[in-house]
Amino acid sequence: MSTYTLNNVKKRIRKRLSDLRENEEQMKREIETLQDSLEQFHRWVQSTKKDMSQSQLKEMAEELGLNIRVQFPFISLAKYFIVQQIDRQIITTKHRIQETTHRIRNLDNERENVYRCPQCNGLAYETKTHYVREDSRVIPITTSKDCPICKGKGKIDLNAG
Ligand SMILES: [Zn+2]
Repeated sequence: MSTYTLNNVKKRIRKRLSDLRENEEQMKREIETLQDSLEQFHRWVQSTKKDMSQSQLKEMAEELGLNIRVQFPFISLAKYFIVQQIDRQIITTKHRIQETTHRIRNLDNERENVYRCPQCNGLAYETKTHYVREDSRVIPITTSKDCPICKGKGKIDLNAG
């Protein structure tokens, strides 16, 4: 017995494709946000090294969760710790960009698999075994026929009737 109908299978594939698209859009937005942060971190490093006032340095240290003294004579030490902390954020952010880019690439594989026929699991045919009694023995007879859902293709063609 066929547990699938072609229409249900197509509906499921369309849903899955639209989920994948949405997923991809979301990850692309994520990458844009991460790239914005990366640029911001680079600007922070520049201005920490150059033109930040003491109160701005204090704010920056707080923002980065650094518990350090931002006052004379520790100003350059404070700057050093701040820059180091921002560099760590830069590395983490670069990793996350790489990871997300990788996940986007994996979506292409998933997209390929979406079309695999769930009825025959991509085999394109179905086998049936029935048993024939002959003398005192039982002989299994296996027959195969084209899968009724994908019509012997193994994949679902969304445009085919
Ligand atoms: Zn099939």
